[in-house]
Amino acid sequence: MTVSKKIGEAIESSSWIRKMFEEGNLRRQKYGAENVFDFSLGNPNLEPPARFNEILAELAKDPTPGRHAYMPNAGLPETREAVAQYLKTFNRARFTGEDVVMTVGAGGALNVVLKTVLNPGEEIIIPKPYFVEYNNYLDNHQGVPRLVATRPDFSLDCEALSEAITEKTRGVLINSPNNPTGRVYGKQELDELADLLAFHSQKRGEPLYLISDEPYRAITFDGVTVPSVFDAYKESFVVTSFSKDLSLPGERIGYASAHPEMTDKGIIMAGMVYCNRVLGYVNAPALMQRAVAGLLGESVDTSLYKRKRDRLCDGLASFGYEFIKPEGAFYLFPRTPVEDDVAFVGALQQENILTVPGSGFGGPGHFRIAYCVSDEVIERALPGFERVIRRYREETRKGL
Ligand code: PLP
Repeated sequence: MTVSKKIGEAIESSSWIRKMFEEGNLRRQKYGAENVFDFSLGNPNLEPPARFNEILAELAKDPTPGRHAYMPNAGLPETREAVAQYLKTFNRARFTGEDVVMTVGAGGALNVVLKTVLNPGEEIIIPKPYFVEYNNYLDNHQGVPRLVATRPDFSLDCEALSEAITEKTRGVLINSPNNPTGRVYGKQELDELADLLAFHSQKRGEPLYLISDEPYRAITFDGVTVPSVFDAYKESFVVTSFSKDLSLPGERIGYASAHPEMTDKGIIMAGMVYCNRVLGYVNAPALMQRAVAGLLGESVDTSLYKRKRDRLCDGLASFGYEFIKPEGAFYLFPRTPVEDDVAFVGALQQENILTVPGSGFGGPGHFRIAYCVSDEVIERALPGFERVIRRYREETRKGL
C-alpha cells in the first residue's frame, strides 16, 4: 500500500461521503447543474461584505516593506489586540492581545487547542449530533471522542454529560450555534455545564476545560444571542473563524482565545503559540489578519439566512416534516420519516436533492440540510421534498 494503513482506512471509511459527492456530480452532468439542488455543504452562498474588498484593495496598495514576511507565530500584535478589544464587547473578562492566537480557520484553532492540552488517550466529551471532523482533529493528537446524547430538543443534557466524566476526561467540546442542528445553548445550560466542570476540576485538583467552537456566533435569528462561555467558566477556550460570518472559508482565517484568568495561562498560551508553529501553519495568513482586523463585529446580512430558514421551515412543515426550528447557523436537521436515514437521503437524491444523513453527524434518524444556498434553489427543491415524504407516507400506510 502506498499510503499508511491508517490513512488508507480513513479514506475508505469516508467513501460513502465521496460516493454522494460523485453521485451529485453525475447528476449535474446528466440533468444540468441548475437542476441539482445541493444542500450538502456548509459553504456560504453570500458574498463577503463590500468593505472586505475595499480593505483588500487598500492593503494591495500599501508600499510598507515586509508586509508579506514571517511574523510572530501567534499573529500580528495589532490584530491580536483588535480581537481582544472586540472580545471585551461581549465578555466580561479583560482580554489583551496576549490571550489571542490568530489561526488558520476554526479548524486550525481547534487543532492548536487540542494539541496544547491533550495527553495520549485522554477523552474529550462531545454532545451529539456534532461536527464529525472533531473525530479526526482529536485523532491528530491521540485524543478520544466521548459522545454524549443531547435532549430531544438538542439542548445539553448535563446529567448525561456528568455521567460521561471519567479520570480520562480532559474537557468538553461544544459548538453553538450548532452544526448540524442550529441549536444555540442558553445561559442556564452553560452555567450548569460550568458548575459541573468546576466540581470535577476541584475533585481532580486540575482544570477540566470547556472548548467552545463558535464560527456561527453572528448567525442567529429572532433576537437569540449566544451567551458567553467565558462569563460562565474561566477554564474556557473559544475557537472561531471568519469563515461563516464574513463568508471567507477559503481564506482560512480565525483565532483561538483563552480566558485571561485561566489556570496556568502563561504556559497554556506558550503551548498554543508553539502548536500553531509546529502543526505547520507557522502563522495565520498575513493579508487576512490585516483584513479582518478592520471587520471585527461585522457580518454578512444574516436576515438573508433567516429568510431562507423561514421559507424552508414553512415549506417542509406544511409537507409534514418534523424538526426543531434552528435558532442559528444555516443548517436544518429534520427527522427522517423512516429509521434508515441513508435510504431516505438516497430517495431525496433521486429528486436531485443532495443532503447528508444524520448518521454522519452521530444523529441517526435525521438528515442535514445546509440552506446556505440561493433562495431559488430552496424554492425549486421544495416540490421534490414534498414528493418524497408523500411517497414514504403512502408506503407506510400500505404497510410496505
Ligand atoms: N466547526 C464547525 C462546527 C464547522 O461547521 C466548521 C466548518 O464547517 C468548522 C469548525 C471549520 O471552520 P473553518 O473553515 O473556519 O476551519
